[in-house]
Amino acid sequence: MSTKIEWATDSWNPITGCTKISPGCKNCYAERMAKRLAGRYGYPKDEPFRPTFHADKLDQPSKWRKPRMVFVCSMGDLFHHDVKSQWRNLVFGEMTTNRQHTFLLLTKRPEKAAEFWHINMPDIYDLNIWLGVTAENQEQADNRIPVLLQIPAAKRFVSIEPMLGPVDLGWYLARYQSNISGLRYMVKGAAGDYTELSLLDWVILGGETGPGHRPMEPQWARDVRDQCVRAGVPFFMKKMAGGGQPPDDLMIREYPA
Ligand code: SF4
Repeated sequence: MSTKIEWATDSWNPITGCTKISPGCKNCYAERMAKRLAGRYGYPKDEPFRPTFHADKLDQPSKWRKPRMVFVCSMGDLFHHDVKSQWRNLVFGEMTTNRQHTFLLLTKRPEKAAEFWHINMPDIYDLNIWLGVTAENQEQADNRIPVLLQIPAAKRFVSIEPMLGPVDLGWYLARYQSNISGLRYMVKGAAGDYTELSLLDWVILGGETGPGHRPMEPQWARDVRDQCVRAGVPFFMKKMAGGGQPPDDLMIREYPA
């Protein structure tokens, strides 16, 4: 995951740790931090990046009275296969009892998220939980977004960070749908006409920052911005590769309604 969380007000890490799964993980900030904190703050000394439950952090959101936008597990992946179901259930329990907050989950393992959602929350659409996938390149966008779009989270978003190549989100932002039932975004009009609906609710984009960062062409970001504008989907621009501020025309920071 990334260094600065510009799109949330807080991060909450009742579970930390992960393993690398795709090119976006190469310079993982969470792993660097875990190694730095080995043996302290609940990080295992021998294997600091191993998925670990931090019981002392579990009730943190209950202590926050005012509504917050909370990035959950910024130092790992809640849907990693070594995260025990019991830990995940406790985290979801805390989220669903603290409806004053909005919780944002970001994963590179949407298959596990889909499995969890369908077993535990098959009919719930209005929770205060937003779910996103990372899509650092087109391949990962095409692998992960279709799975995300089958999960009935309150909002579904994609984080193109670190952006490692051009990404075309066209299909996932809007299309004419019909004849497929069971997915909430598929609507067929009474007259049998097709209704155009937005599929993704939000797009976040940023270049890689920190040691060994890889380049990002500004035009790649502009193309995604233009796709979002055309589809009416909110776009949130983070830093350019290397940590620089985006040029003015890219400096858009919108949130879903
Ligand atoms: S999925 Fe995220 S936390 Fe896990 S290794 Fe990759 S970048 Fe790091």
